[in-house]
Amino acid sequence: MHLKTLTLRGFKSFASATTLRFEPGVTCVVGPNGSGKSNVVDALAWVMGEQGAKSLRGGKMEDVIFAGTSGRPPLGRAEVSLTIDNTDGALPIDYTEVTISRTLFRSGGSEYAINGSSCRLLDIQDLLSDSGLGREMHVIVGQGQLDAVLRATPEDRRGFIEEAAGVLKHRKRKEKALRKLDAMQANLTRLTDLTAEIRRQLGPLGKQAEVARRAQGIQADVRDARARLLADDLAQLTASLEQEIADETALRARLEHVEQASTAARRRLADLEAEAAAAAPELSEVTDVWYRLSSVRERLRGTATLAGERLRLLGSAVDEAPGRDPADLEAQAVRARQAEAEIAAEVDVARA
Ligand code: ATP
Repeated sequence: MHLKTLTLRGFKSFASATTLRFEPGVTCVVGPNGSGKSNVVDALAWVMGEQGAKSLRGGKMEDVIFAGTSGRPPLGRAEVSLTIDNTDGALPIDYTEVTISRTLFRSGGSEYAINGSSCRLLDIQDLLSDSGLGREMHVIVGQGQLDAVLRATPEDRRGFIEEAAGVLKHRKRKEKALRKLDAMQANLTRLTDLTAEIRRQLGPLGKQAEVARRAQGIQADVRDARARLLADDLAQLTASLEQEIADETALRARLEHVEQASTAARRRLADLEAEAAAAAPELSEVTDVWYRLSSVRERLRGTATLAGERLRLLGSAVDEAPGRDPADLEAQAVRARQAEAEIAAEVDVARA
Protein backbone atom coordinates (compact mmCIF):
# COMPACT_ATOMS: atom_id res chain seq x y z
CA MET A 1 0.00 0.00 0.00
CA HIS A 2 1.22 3.48 -0.82
CA LEU A 3 -0.23 6.92 -1.41
CA LYS A 4 -0.67 7.51 -5.14
CA THR A 5 -2.06 11.00 -5.60
CA LEU A 6 -3.22 13.94 -3.55
CA THR A 7 -5.50 16.51 -5.18
CA LEU A 8 -6.18 19.85 -3.50
CA ARG A 9 -8.83 22.37 -4.62
CA GLY A 10 -9.27 25.55 -2.65
CA PHE A 11 -7.38 24.07 0.34
CA LYS A 12 -5.29 26.71 2.13
CA SER A 13 -2.79 28.19 -0.35
CA PHE A 14 -3.88 25.76 -3.13
CA ALA A 15 -6.57 27.85 -4.81
CA SER A 16 -6.32 26.06 -8.17
CA ALA A 17 -6.74 22.32 -8.42
CA THR A 18 -3.34 20.80 -7.79
CA THR A 19 -2.50 17.11 -8.01
CA LEU A 20 0.63 15.65 -6.43
CA ARG A 21 1.64 12.21 -7.70
CA PHE A 22 3.66 10.03 -5.32
CA GLU A 23 5.71 7.04 -6.40
CA PRO A 24 6.63 4.18 -4.07
CA GLY A 25 9.60 5.16 -1.97
CA VAL A 26 10.50 8.57 -0.52
CA THR A 27 8.94 11.76 -1.86
CA CYS A 28 10.34 15.14 -0.89
CA VAL A 29 8.62 18.45 -1.24
CA VAL A 30 11.13 21.23 -1.39
CA GLY A 31 10.46 24.94 -1.21
CA PRO A 32 11.23 28.16 0.61
CA ASN A 33 9.72 29.10 3.93
CA GLY A 34 5.99 29.89 3.70
CA SER A 35 5.65 28.42 0.23
CA GLY A 36 3.02 25.91 1.39
CA LYS A 37 4.92 22.65 2.08
CA SER A 38 3.19 22.07 5.42
CA ASN A 39 -0.19 22.76 3.75
CA VAL A 40 0.36 19.52 1.80
CA VAL A 41 0.81 17.59 5.05
CA ASP A 42 -2.22 19.39 6.52
CA ALA A 43 -4.22 18.29 3.47
CA LEU A 44 -3.20 14.66 4.13
CA ALA A 45 -4.25 14.85 7.78
CA TRP A 46 -7.48 16.68 6.88
CA VAL A 47 -8.61 14.24 4.21
CA MET A 48 -7.99 11.34 6.61
CA GLY A 49 -10.48 12.89 9.05
CA GLU A 50 -8.54 15.34 11.24
CA GLN A 51 -11.08 17.26 13.34
CA GLY A 52 -8.88 19.67 15.34
CA ALA A 53 -8.42 23.05 13.65
CA LYS A 54 -5.33 23.63 15.81
CA SER A 55 -3.66 20.48 14.45
CA LEU A 56 -4.16 22.06 11.04
CA ARG A 57 -2.55 25.28 12.29
CA GLY A 58 -5.76 27.29 12.11
CA GLY A 59 -8.18 28.97 14.53
CA LYS A 60 -11.28 27.31 13.17
CA MET A 61 -11.96 24.62 10.59
CA GLU A 62 -13.17 27.18 8.03
CA ASP A 63 -9.56 28.52 7.87
CA VAL A 64 -8.60 25.60 5.63
CA ILE A 65 -10.63 27.14 2.79
CA PHE A 66 -8.58 29.37 0.47
CA ALA A 67 -8.95 32.83 2.02
CA GLY A 68 -7.95 34.81 -1.10
CA THR A 69 -4.89 36.85 -1.98
CA SER A 70 -4.36 40.35 -3.33
CA GLY A 71 -4.86 39.03 -6.87
CA ARG A 72 -7.48 36.33 -6.25
CA PRO A 73 -10.83 36.33 -4.42
CA PRO A 74 -11.55 33.81 -1.64
CA LEU A 75 -13.21 30.50 -2.50
CA GLY A 76 -16.40 29.01 -1.10
CA ARG A 77 -15.14 25.54 -0.44
CA ALA A 78 -12.05 23.37 0.10
CA GLU A 79 -11.80 19.89 -1.33
CA VAL A 80 -9.02 17.29 -0.95
CA SER A 81 -8.92 13.81 -2.51
CA LEU A 82 -6.35 11.16 -1.59
CA THR A 83 -5.92 8.11 -3.78
CA ILE A 84 -4.33 5.07 -2.11
CA ASP A 85 -2.94 2.06 -3.97
CA ASN A 86 -4.59 -0.97 -2.38
CA THR A 87 -3.29 -3.76 -4.57
CA ASP A 88 -1.97 -5.54 -1.47
CA GLY A 89 -5.47 -5.30 0.12
CA ALA A 90 -4.18 -3.47 3.21
CA LEU A 91 -7.44 -1.53 3.30
CA PRO A 92 -10.48 -3.72 4.06
CA ILE A 93 -12.29 -2.83 0.83
CA ASP A 94 -12.66 -4.68 -2.51
CA TYR A 95 -10.88 -2.10 -4.62
CA THR A 96 -7.26 -2.00 -5.76
CA GLU A 97 -7.40 1.77 -5.68
CA VAL A 98 -9.27 3.74 -3.04
CA THR A 99 -9.99 7.46 -3.25
CA ILE A 100 -11.19 9.20 -0.12
CA SER A 101 -12.46 12.77 -0.42
CA ARG A 102 -13.45 15.48 2.00
CA THR A 103 -15.19 18.74 1.14
CA LEU A 104 -15.90 21.67 3.41
CA PHE A 105 -18.18 24.57 2.46
CA ARG A 106 -17.80 28.05 3.86
CA SER A 107 -21.52 27.89 4.78
CA GLY A 108 -20.55 25.08 7.21
CA GLY A 109 -21.63 21.96 5.29
CA SER A 110 -19.18 19.07 5.09
CA GLU A 111 -19.08 15.93 2.92
CA TYR A 112 -17.05 12.73 2.87
CA ALA A 113 -16.81 10.18 0.08
CA ILE A 114 -15.11 6.84 -0.60
CA ASN A 115 -14.59 6.17 -4.32
CA GLY A 116 -17.16 8.85 -5.16
CA SER A 117 -19.93 7.48 -2.90
CA SER A 118 -20.78 9.77 -0.03
CA CYS A 119 -20.18 8.33 3.40
CA ARG A 120 -19.74 9.34 7.04
CA LEU A 121 -16.51 10.43 8.71
CA LEU A 122 -16.77 7.25 10.78
CA ASP A 123 -16.66 5.12 7.60
CA ILE A 124 -13.39 6.75 6.54
CA GLN A 125 -11.89 6.39 10.04
CA ASP A 126 -12.91 2.71 10.15
CA LEU A 127 -11.47 2.08 6.69
CA LEU A 128 -8.12 3.64 7.55
CA SER A 129 -7.73 2.51 11.16
CA ASP A 130 -7.32 -1.15 10.20
CA SER A 131 -4.32 -0.21 8.03
CA GLY A 132 -2.66 1.93 10.69
CA LEU A 133 -3.44 5.14 8.84
CA GLY A 134 -5.71 7.87 10.11
CA ARG A 135 -5.92 10.13 13.11
CA GLU A 136 -3.68 9.74 16.17
CA MET A 137 -1.70 6.94 14.58
CA HIS A 138 1.52 8.93 14.40
CA VAL A 139 1.81 8.30 10.71
CA ILE A 140 2.25 12.03 10.42
CA VAL A 141 5.09 13.50 12.44
CA GLY A 142 4.82 17.25 12.33
CA GLN A 143 7.40 19.94 12.96
CA GLY A 144 8.50 19.88 16.58
CA GLN A 145 6.99 16.44 17.24
CA LEU A 146 10.33 14.74 16.53
CA ASP A 147 11.85 16.73 19.33
CA ALA A 148 9.02 15.59 21.63
CA VAL A 149 9.71 11.96 20.70
CA LEU A 150 13.41 12.30 21.36
CA ARG A 151 12.85 13.93 24.74
CA ALA A 152 10.04 11.54 25.82
CA THR A 153 10.27 9.43 29.01
CA PRO A 154 10.46 5.67 28.53
CA GLU A 155 6.72 5.39 29.31
CA ASP A 156 5.80 8.08 26.75
CA ARG A 157 8.12 6.46 24.22
CA ARG A 158 6.40 3.14 24.81
CA GLY A 159 3.11 4.92 24.08
CA PHE A 160 4.46 6.26 20.80
CA ILE A 161 5.77 2.84 19.77
CA GLU A 162 2.52 1.15 20.68
CA GLU A 163 0.54 3.64 18.68
CA ALA A 164 2.87 3.37 15.70
CA ALA A 165 2.62 -0.42 15.89
CA GLY A 166 -1.15 -0.20 15.68
CA VAL A 167 -1.75 -1.17 19.31
CA LEU A 168 -3.79 1.99 19.75
CA LYS A 169 -6.66 0.53 17.80
CA HIS A 170 -6.81 -2.47 20.12
CA ARG A 171 -6.32 -0.31 23.17
CA LYS A 172 -9.22 1.84 22.08
CA ARG A 173 -11.31 -1.24 21.55
CA LYS A 174 -10.32 -2.42 25.01
CA GLU A 175 -11.24 0.97 26.47
CA LYS A 176 -14.54 0.83 24.65
CA ALA A 177 -15.16 -2.71 25.91
CA LEU A 178 -14.24 -1.62 29.44
CA ARG A 179 -16.61 1.35 29.18
CA LYS A 180 -19.34 -1.02 28.02
CA LEU A 181 -18.51 -3.36 30.92
CA ASP A 182 -18.73 -0.43 33.35
CA ALA A 183 -22.07 0.57 31.90
CA MET A 184 -23.19 -3.04 32.09
CA GLN A 185 -22.03 -3.22 35.70
CA ALA A 186 -23.98 -0.07 36.48
CA ASN A 187 -27.03 -1.59 34.78
CA LEU A 188 -26.50 -4.80 36.74
CA THR A 189 -26.33 -2.86 40.00
CA ARG A 190 -29.50 -1.01 39.10
CA LEU A 191 -31.12 -4.31 38.21
CA THR A 192 -30.10 -5.81 41.55
CA ASP A 193 -31.51 -2.76 43.34
CA LEU A 194 -34.71 -3.07 41.35
CA THR A 195 -34.97 -6.79 42.11
CA ALA A 196 -34.51 -6.11 45.82
CA GLU A 197 -37.09 -3.34 45.67
CA ILE A 198 -39.55 -5.55 43.81
CA ARG A 199 -39.00 -8.36 46.34
CA ARG A 200 -39.74 -5.88 49.12
CA GLN A 201 -42.93 -4.82 47.36
CA LEU A 202 -44.03 -8.42 46.73
CA GLY A 203 -45.45 -8.90 50.29
CA PRO A 204 -47.75 -5.85 50.26
CA LEU A 205 -48.57 -6.59 46.62
CA GLY A 206 -49.70 -10.13 47.59
CA LYS A 207 -51.99 -8.62 50.24
CA GLN A 208 -53.30 -6.10 47.75
CA ALA A 209 -53.91 -8.90 45.25
CA GLU A 210 -55.90 -10.84 47.90
CA VAL A 211 -57.97 -7.70 48.67
CA ALA A 212 -58.48 -7.14 44.94
CA ARG A 213 -59.66 -10.76 44.54
CA ARG A 214 -62.15 -10.33 47.39
CA ALA A 215 -63.30 -7.01 45.94
CA GLN A 216 -63.85 -8.77 42.64
CA GLY A 217 -66.02 -11.42 44.36
CA ILE A 218 -68.04 -8.74 46.16
CA GLN A 219 -68.46 -6.80 42.94
CA ALA A 220 -69.75 -9.98 41.24
CA ASP A 221 -72.26 -10.51 44.09
CA VAL A 222 -73.42 -6.89 43.81
CA ARG A 223 -73.80 -7.33 40.06
CA ASP A 224 -75.89 -10.49 40.57
CA ALA A 225 -78.10 -8.83 43.20
CA ARG A 226 -78.62 -5.81 40.96
CA ALA A 227 -79.51 -8.10 38.07
CA ARG A 228 -82.03 -10.01 40.24
CA LEU A 229 -83.65 -6.76 41.45
CA LEU A 230 -83.86 -5.51 37.90
CA ALA A 231 -85.42 -8.81 36.77
CA ASP A 232 -88.00 -8.53 39.56
CA ASP A 233 -88.80 -4.92 38.61
CA LEU A 234 -89.11 -6.04 35.02
CA ALA A 235 -91.57 -8.83 35.90
CA GLN A 236 -93.71 -6.43 37.97
CA LEU A 237 -93.70 -3.79 35.29
CA THR A 238 -94.60 -6.39 32.64
CA ALA A 239 -97.55 -7.61 34.74
CA SER A 240 -98.83 -4.07 35.34
CA LEU A 241 -98.35 -3.30 31.65
CA GLU A 242 -100.44 -6.34 30.75
CA GLN A 243 -103.13 -5.24 33.26
CA GLU A 244 -103.11 -1.75 31.78
CA ILE A 245 -103.42 -3.20 28.29
CA ALA A 246 -106.39 -5.36 29.42
CA ASP A 247 -108.04 -2.30 31.08
CA GLU A 248 -107.46 -0.27 27.98
CA THR A 249 -109.05 -3.02 25.82
CA ALA A 250 -112.09 -3.16 28.10
CA LEU A 251 -112.40 0.64 28.05
CA ARG A 252 -112.09 0.65 24.28
CA ALA A 253 -114.89 -1.97 24.06
CA ARG A 254 -117.02 0.13 26.42
CA LEU A 255 -116.27 3.25 24.44
CA GLU A 256 -117.34 1.48 21.26
CA HIS A 257 -120.52 0.32 22.94
CA VAL A 258 -121.31 3.82 24.21
CA GLU A 259 -120.55 5.28 20.80
CA GLN A 260 -122.91 2.76 19.22
CA ALA A 261 -125.63 3.67 21.77
CA SER A 262 -124.96 7.37 21.13
CA THR A 263 -125.27 6.83 17.37
CA ALA A 264 -128.51 4.92 17.86
CA ALA A 265 -129.86 7.66 20.19
CA ARG A 266 -128.89 10.33 17.65
CA ARG A 267 -130.57 8.33 14.93
CA ARG A 268 -133.70 7.96 17.14
CA LEU A 269 -133.60 11.70 17.94
CA ALA A 270 -133.43 12.47 14.22
CA ASP A 271 -136.37 10.11 13.58
CA LEU A 272 -138.37 11.70 16.38
CA GLU A 273 -137.53 15.18 15.12
CA ALA A 274 -138.64 14.11 11.64
CA GLU A 275 -141.81 12.65 13.16
CA ALA A 276 -142.38 15.85 15.13
CA ALA A 277 -141.84 17.91 11.98
CA ALA A 278 -144.30 15.65 10.11
CA ALA A 279 -146.81 15.87 12.96
CA ALA A 280 -146.55 19.67 13.27
CA PRO A 281 -149.35 20.50 10.75
CA GLU A 282 -151.59 17.84 12.32
CA LEU A 283 -150.80 19.29 15.76
CA SER A 284 -151.73 22.78 14.71
CA GLU A 285 -154.94 21.39 13.15
CA VAL A 286 -155.73 19.51 16.37
CA THR A 287 -154.96 22.66 18.36
CA ASP A 288 -157.39 24.56 16.14
CA VAL A 289 -159.99 21.84 16.69
CA TRP A 290 -159.38 22.04 20.42
CA TYR A 291 -159.85 25.80 20.37
CA ARG A 292 -163.04 25.42 18.32
CA LEU A 293 -164.30 22.69 20.65
CA SER A 294 -163.49 24.91 23.62
CA SER A 295 -165.48 27.75 22.06
CA VAL A 296 -168.32 25.31 21.24
CA ARG A 297 -168.25 24.09 24.85
CA GLU A 298 -168.39 27.68 26.03
CA ARG A 299 -171.25 28.37 23.73
CA LEU A 300 -173.02 25.14 24.80
CA ARG A 301 -172.40 26.08 28.39
CA GLY A 302 -173.89 29.53 27.59
CA THR A 303 -176.82 27.99 25.71
CA ALA A 304 -177.47 25.53 28.56
CA THR A 305 -177.36 28.36 31.04
CA LEU A 306 -179.66 30.41 28.79
CA ALA A 307 -181.98 27.42 28.31
CA GLY A 308 -182.05 26.82 32.08
CA GLU A 309 -182.77 30.47 32.59
CA ARG A 310 -185.56 30.49 30.01
CA LEU A 311 -187.03 27.34 31.42
CA ARG A 312 -187.06 28.92 34.81
CA LEU A 313 -188.61 32.08 33.30
CA LEU A 314 -191.10 30.01 31.33
CA GLY A 315 -192.22 28.20 34.49
CA SER A 316 -192.66 31.42 36.39
CA ALA A 317 -194.27 33.23 33.35
CA VAL A 318 -196.84 30.49 33.08
CA ASP A 319 -197.56 30.92 36.75
CA GLU A 320 -197.27 34.74 36.75
CA ALA A 321 -198.71 35.53 33.22
CA PRO A 322 -201.30 32.96 32.28
CA GLY A 323 -202.44 35.24 29.46
CA ARG A 324 -199.23 34.73 27.27
CA ASP A 325 -199.80 33.52 23.69
CA PRO A 326 -199.09 29.76 23.32
CA ALA A 327 -198.24 30.42 19.62
CA ASP A 328 -195.37 32.67 20.69
CA LEU A 329 -194.22 30.08 23.07
CA GLU A 330 -194.43 27.42 20.34
CA ALA A 331 -192.39 29.62 17.93
CA GLN A 332 -189.83 30.23 20.67
CA ALA A 333 -189.58 26.47 21.26
CA VAL A 334 -189.04 25.82 17.55
CA ARG A 335 -186.20 28.33 17.45
CA ALA A 336 -184.69 26.81 20.49
CA ARG A 337 -184.85 23.35 18.86
CA GLN A 338 -183.23 24.73 15.70
CA ALA A 339 -180.49 26.31 17.72
CA GLU A 340 -179.96 22.96 19.50
CA ALA A 341 -179.86 21.09 16.16
CA GLU A 342 -177.27 23.55 14.81
CA ILE A 343 -175.14 23.20 17.90
CA ALA A 344 -175.43 19.36 17.79
CA ALA A 345 -174.30 19.44 14.15
CA GLU A 346 -171.36 21.65 15.13
CA VAL A 347 -170.51 19.24 17.93
CA ASP A 348 -170.53 16.29 15.52
CA VAL A 349 -168.22 18.13 13.14
CA ALA A 350 -165.91 19.05 15.94
CA ARG A 351 -165.90 15.54 17.34
CA ALA A 352 -165.00 14.11 13.93
P1 ATP B 1 7.58 26.85 6.75
O1 ATP B 1 8.80 26.33 5.99
O2 ATP B 1 7.82 28.17 7.35
O3 ATP B 1 6.94 25.88 7.63
P2 ATP B 1 5.82 26.14 4.62
O4 ATP B 1 6.53 26.10 3.33
O5 ATP B 1 5.54 24.88 5.29
O6 ATP B 1 6.55 27.16 5.61
P3 ATP B 1 3.11 26.65 5.04
O7 ATP B 1 3.17 26.99 6.42
O8 ATP B 1 2.59 25.33 4.60
O9 ATP B 1 4.53 26.92 4.37
O10 ATP B 1 2.24 27.70 4.25
C1 ATP B 1 1.95 28.94 4.73
C2 ATP B 1 1.38 29.70 3.57
O11 ATP B 1 0.09 29.26 3.28
C3 ATP B 1 1.33 31.16 3.93
O12 ATP B 1 1.78 31.93 2.85
C4 ATP B 1 -0.17 31.41 4.14
O13 ATP B 1 -0.50 32.70 3.64
C5 ATP B 1 -0.75 30.39 3.18
N1 ATP B 1 -2.07 30.04 3.66
C6 ATP B 1 -2.39 29.33 4.77
N2 ATP B 1 -3.75 29.21 4.89
C7 ATP B 1 -4.28 29.85 3.80
C8 ATP B 1 -5.60 30.07 3.33
N3 ATP B 1 -6.66 29.62 3.99
N4 ATP B 1 -5.76 30.76 2.20
C9 ATP B 1 -4.74 31.24 1.51
N5 ATP B 1 -3.48 31.04 1.88
C10 ATP B 1 -3.22 30.37 3.01
